[in-house]
Amino acid sequence: MSLAARIATEGARMAEACTACGACVQACPMARFATGVAQADSAEVATGMRAFLRGEETSPLALAWIGACTRSAVCNNACPEKLDVALMMRFASMRARGALDGVPLVPVKADSGWSARVKGFARLGLTEQEQAEWL
Ligand code: SF4
Repeated sequence: MSLAARIATEGARMAEACTACGACVQACPMARFATGVAQADSAEVATGMRAFLRGEETSPLALAWIGACTRSAVCNNACPEKLDVALMMRFASMRARGALDGVPLVPVKADSGWSARVKGFARLGLTEQEQAEWL
């Protein structure tokens, strides 16, 4: 399975258990830095995130939240479903930055060393077969 396919299928699988309660949005320390998110209905933002992981239409609020994520993982402790929200947000972030179709929906930083660093860190946690298929 390709990395893009993994992002799509695993993100969608995790989204199935999400009730879009919004607790993760309320707990997120970055929400106030995402345009409109702190003032919005947290459940609405979460609904957009869940839809995005399913490959469905999302919302500007959800994309703003996804784009602001810094992987603090504070959301994980807030989730009543005990989901790994930080991982869900990671999948959403990669999808939003064009990992599946090359079309970024949130700003992508120009950083020529980014790919090499990602591959270096990925090698620490991937099997040899995953490295061969994904990197
Ligand atoms: S806290 Fe958990 S169940 Fe609630 S919206 Fe976030 S991920 Fe979904």
